[in-house]
Amino acid sequence: MEKHQKRYFLTEEEIPTQWYNIQADMVNKPLPPINPATKQPLKVEDLYPVFAEELCRQELDQEHAWIDIPEEVRDMYKYYRSTPLVRAYGLEKALGTPAHIYFKNESVSPVGSHKLNSALAQAYYCKQQGITNVTTETGAGQWGAALSYAAKAFGLEAAVYQVKISYNQKPYRRSIMQTYGAQVTASPSMSTRAGKDILTRDPNNQGSLGTAISEAIELALNTPNCRYTLGSVLSHVTLHQTIIGLEAEKQMQKAGEYPDIVIGCFGGGSNFGGISFPFMRHNIKEGRTTRFIAAEPASCPKLTRGVFQYDFGDVAGYTPLLPMYTLGHNFMPANIHAGGLRYHGAGVIVSQLLKDGMMEAVDIRQLESFEAGMLFSRAEGIIPAPESCHAIAAAIQEAKKCIATGEEKVILFNLSGHGLIDMAAYDQYLSGSLQDYVVTDEDVQRNISQLEKVL
Ligand SMILES: *Cc1c(COP(=O)(O)O)cnc(C)c1O
Repeated sequence: MEKHQKRYFLTEEEIPTQWYNIQADMVNKPLPPINPATKQPLKVEDLYPVFAEELCRQELDQEHAWIDIPEEVRDMYKYYRSTPLVRAYGLEKALGTPAHIYFKNESVSPVGSHKLNSALAQAYYCKQQGITNVTTETGAGQWGAALSYAAKAFGLEAAVYQVKISYNQKPYRRSIMQTYGAQVTASPSMSTRAGKDILTRDPNNQGSLGTAISEAIELALNTPNCRYTLGSVLSHVTLHQTIIGLEAEKQMQKAGEYPDIVIGCFGGGSNFGGISFPFMRHNIKEGRTTRFIAAEPASCPKLTRGVFQYDFGDVAGYTPLLPMYTLGHNFMPANIHAGGLRYHGAGVIVSQLLKDGMMEAVDIRQLESFEAGMLFSRAEGIIPAPESCHAIAAAIQEAKKCIATGEEKVILFNLSGHGLIDMAAYDQYLSGSLQDYVVTDEDVQRNISQLEKVL
């Protein structure tokens, strides 16, 4: 039989003991977040009412390149880590490419995505500080599921605000969160002032991530011993995700290769940064020339078509002002199936790196992403999450270029999650009813022009 997959693992001892904080090594550091009330750079203490203190320090740490992973978190990582690094011989053969394609399979976590890597860390630091309750928001439910399990693992109560339309249309992730013991509320709800305000004005409001964020923050601020958590965008979230790239680096060594190209799909940047930054440090420090490609949806193209500017992280304007590539915080992305990529902005680290030419971005249309997902499923046996399909599509684009040039490039991409709870999306693709959504220049311009007033 022909070679199909080959998988590389680490022993428990080889699982990394530290996360990598690229901020310490960046030539141009990210600009500081701004407190919208004072227009002054945010101080660590400003964040204490919202997040666990250790997470606030990690968020703004531009000094320490290596941060110890607490033993309790590493013990939980061992439940599913190391995750496999896979040489995708099946996909190479299906494409007829001389490229060597590898993927890091984060879909093997108990909740089916990379998000647990940060959820466990955030729950741990809350617990350590004596916090008893955590809140968050979730759209499609990947982050809510990860936080619900992490909260249970560390003995915390979790309250999740799920965007009402997903709560009703995608009941399985809601049941997953409830199975782990979380309290799940459809947002907008009557349990917060923000929710009441909206429902009084518009009783049939179906909710949005922005509204759910407002409700989760409000509950955290008004409940004793409670903090808010976030699953993407912020620098401390990406820090925790570097476990992906640090493992992959060791596993690539076992395979006797080093990547020429590293690819991740891009929502707020945590899985992309997670797989990329450990390799990027060799570009920064040793002059390596690995290319890093963030794959975003054509319906929400903040990296390829947005502007670099201070903007709010949420629709309502509750968060600090962040220096980032953005389409404007009031940008309403089309309702594509890759729910985890429907975010208007990019994390501040990735934004600075893109501005400095340390990485590239590519936008992928919805139909191309599902074509890639279909090909990958049949070649490698894993049905990828709609988000992950974007990374696969970008990897396929690069692998096809190698057919033309005959180069045996080494391509590594992150498989951020599996799609087994997203089969309704595949169903639509298979029945031919799925569409492409590409934003018009007018849409981009209109939102960006409204941004000027912010700062
Ligand atoms: C949330 C999510 C993403 C996008 O978030 P990032 O912070 O950009 O990584 C990608 N893939 C999956 C499976 C997700 O759940």
